[in-house]
Amino acid sequence: MILKAKGCQDIYGKKAKVWQYVNQIIDMVMEEYHYDYIRTPIFEASDLFHRGIGESSDIVSKETYDFKDRGNRLLTLRPEGTAGIVRSYIENKMYAEPTQPLKVYYNGTMYRYERSQAGRYREFTQFGIEVLGTSDPMADAEVISLAVYIYRLLGLKEIKVNINSLGDKNSRDNYRQALIDYFKPQIKHLCEDCQRRLEKNPLRILDCKIDAGNEILKNAPKTIDYLNEESRQHFKKVQEYLDILEIPYEVNPNIVRGLDYYNHTVFEIEAKVEGFGSQNVIGAGGRYDGLVEELGGPKTSCVGFASGLERLILALEKENIELPIEDDVEVFVMYVNDEEKKQAVYLTQELRQAGFCCETEYTSRTLKGQLKQADRLNSKYLVFLNSADLANKLVTVKDNNTKDEEKVAVADLISYLSNKMIGPHDDCCGGHGDCHCK
Ligand code: ATP
Ligand code: MG
Repeated sequence: MILKAKGCQDIYGKKAKVWQYVNQIIDMVMEEYHYDYIRTPIFEASDLFHRGIGESSDIVSKETYDFKDRGNRLLTLRPEGTAGIVRSYIENKMYAEPTQPLKVYYNGTMYRYERSQAGRYREFTQFGIEVLGTSDPMADAEVISLAVYIYRLLGLKEIKVNINSLGDKNSRDNYRQALIDYFKPQIKHLCEDCQRRLEKNPLRILDCKIDAGNEILKNAPKTIDYLNEESRQHFKKVQEYLDILEIPYEVNPNIVRGLDYYNHTVFEIEAKVEGFGSQNVIGAGGRYDGLVEELGGPKTSCVGFASGLERLILALEKENIELPIEDDVEVFVMYVNDEEKKQAVYLTQELRQAGFCCETEYTSRTLKGQLKQADRLNSKYLVFLNSADLANKLVTVKDNNTKDEEKVAVADLISYLSNKMIGPHDDCCGGHGDCHCK
């Protein structure tokens, strides 16, 4: 038997319904907030991620799936969504469209070679948004509020928003130097990765999962103290807008994020999941004003966030949130002989195309077996076809809950079931059943 690759998952059955439901909520909220769906390739030129995410980040230095194709091109399975979207924004000259900023959302699989554990996989799914073409702190607050809204709509109560600011390039450079000066004399006490990070990217030391909790990290200089006036104002405005939007948050100077391209606002949203370690961060993001230029486009200010669907769904499970998932069969069509079967095949299609979730028998079960199957599928109505009734163009419909049954003309079946399920269609098809209004 061949097993699935390490760090991957099969999503099926009840869990797949949860995924679909969560995706529906995401699509709905994106429409309300006016973010357009964007789909970019799952693999890109390796260079894109090396330049975009940064050589010194964990993602690029340790976690990418790189491969050469048969034409000897160096490609990488995308570890995150932003770099591909920025590439697409530049390549397709979206910056020239008059409707700036561009507001887009994505939802797809990402790949990172990580130590797999609960909430941390090698193939995982992120949905996220990007706002390209505005430096207004109002957009930073909107991005955070959209994420919080989705989590709340799904029923998560215990969520915590941590925000911080890295400031503009000037503030970030000053801070970087302060960190080097601070860590240098005591770097021997930190892990090997951090020793390498010191010169390359000292901010990353603060994000280290090995040294997290170490006093040296706790006492390190804080970004906030190195913000210049402009950066301070930006951060203040973000907080003001979050207050207006009634989003509770905490300023947490330890949030620096794992990617190289962030400036100004950075944030992480945690679900309070017991025993989940750092996997309780269900979404994260920030501002990245330099990336479009870095990848060859015009100077463009951007902000965005990404959320891990697996972690979000695990958090829903841990909080025992029951989602309103409808997966009952509405109508089960039953038959016994071949003549009845022909009618069943036809009527099943009619009912499905009228908008009912309709099922029938595929494996020659007896009528008793079909009744059991209908119960297993929580069928609401049973339609019995038998030759004698069919000769008079009638079928028997049984309410599987009350067990009441009635003979109904085949021609009236759709409107009969529509009325039963949602009452008279006064506002739509007028009870004819020729609508998809259920
Ligand atoms: P972590 O610190 O947990 O490794 P990260 O900083 O690498 O996270 P991001 O690159 O910001 O994560 O990705 C955004 C979100 O994507 C995370 O908050 C998380 O919900 C999800 N995510 C990241 N890596 C994984 C993974 N390997 N498996 C499942 N979800 C992930
Ligand atoms: Mg990571």
